[in-house]
Amino acid sequence: MKIVIDAGHGPYTAGKRTPDDSMREFHFNSVVARYIRDGLMQYEGVEVLFTHADDGSSDVPLKERTDKANAWGADAFVSIHANAFGANWNDANGIETFVYTSLPAAALKLAKAVQGALIRSTGRRDRGVKADNLHVLRETKMTAILIECGFMTNREEATLLKSDEYRRQCAAAIVQGIVEVYGLKKSESSKSGTPIVGQAQVTVQQAQEWARQKKAAQSFIDLAPVYWRIGGELGIRPEVGYAQAAKETGLGWFPGVVSRDFHNWCGLKTTKGGSNTDPLAHARFLNDEEGVRAHLQHLALYAGVEVKGVIVDPRHFPSVRGTAKTVEALGGKWAPAVEYGNAITDLLAGLLATKVPTPPVNESVEKVSIEINGVRISAQGYLRNGVSVLPIRAVSEALGATLEWVPETKQVRVNGIDLTETIESGVSYAPARELAAVLGLQVAWNQAAKTVELSTCSIRW
Ligand SMILES: [Zn+2]
Repeated sequence: MKIVIDAGHGPYTAGKRTPDDSMREFHFNSVVARYIRDGLMQYEGVEVLFTHADDGSSDVPLKERTDKANAWGADAFVSIHANAFGANWNDANGIETFVYTSLPAAALKLAKAVQGALIRSTGRRDRGVKADNLHVLRETKMTAILIECGFMTNREEATLLKSDEYRRQCAAAIVQGIVEVYGLKKSESSKSGTPIVGQAQVTVQQAQEWARQKKAAQSFIDLAPVYWRIGGELGIRPEVGYAQAAKETGLGWFPGVVSRDFHNWCGLKTTKGGSNTDPLAHARFLNDEEGVRAHLQHLALYAGVEVKGVIVDPRHFPSVRGTAKTVEALGGKWAPAVEYGNAITDLLAGLLATKVPTPPVNESVEKVSIEINGVRISAQGYLRNGVSVLPIRAVSEALGATLEWVPETKQVRVNGIDLTETIESGVSYAPARELAAVLGLQVAWNQAAKTVELSTCSIRW
């Protein structure tokens, strides 16, 4: 099943934005397109192709989009948009889905399923399935629909369109509609959840940065290398153990009946066991090394991995072996709550997304000037190891791009894309090439003038 996801327009397409220019339509469209792709990839035999430029570097002409879809031999073409009524704020609102004027049966079926799922999920006004003579519907050889997910010219809907939650909601509903119509099946790998067994996918530095950002106890931060060393020995993903330890010990602050001196990082009970509220029912270990080893041995037991050497886990019962191969499956087993596993995967998601800050810019580093379309701006960048880094806010604001503060990563997101950031004296910097790509700019380096020259693309719709 080949599905084209087409995010309408480009970031610099004239007019396609909220009246206050706080959001460009492409930013909504392209982020939703990515979420749809991620959602569809969980299904068997699905291939996804984007006909827009995901990096926002251009507004791909409509003919190019439909030619690409036709040449690929797509089965379905789904174009994502946000609506507008005029150029000023007004009351027009709701969601609508378009098919071509010949009303192809397959497209109508898909449009109705997607429109229905969107309305059920978002609760917005149902403007229905409509027909229109639009290029992407007319020139595509496959089933094609175009979805308008709400009005940028409606204050309430503009706020929704800007929110990550609404974008995810729209994407999930669109995926649901597609899945329904084509009878797609979840692939085995996606059903299996988050594996406990495996190599580390996170570095010790990342884990410690994550713990630091979450205001963990210093002892918890210091513990990361122990998890990574023993996890590596046992073949258990250390970040799974570390995330679980974060949950079990309240990030090392030990608010429960188990105190710090137990060296018990996962709430493990004694062989005899007992009540959750009884400290004596919980295992005590000689030191953190032994406590972490017991924790990871116990996880290995659940995951069905045989542990070689001395078993320090006091509850290494054969009856448990292999009963939870995924983090999700720990719910209802390691702990009574079914949601237990999901609480750990949530922490894990944060851990995986954490970026280690690059070393701060120091005094010896050379300053560089910045020009946008030939005009020098007052803010300056730096040259570090031959790479120029530019102040994200100053450059983005000069171009009217959408800046978003992401509390989980404590970083700025530009046009929905995370950047490799360095923070210096409270100012966030990103590599010039990366920032230019996100903003859809051409970048050139003028060695003589020590200037980064940025220019907006000339492509217009
Ligand atoms: Zn549009």
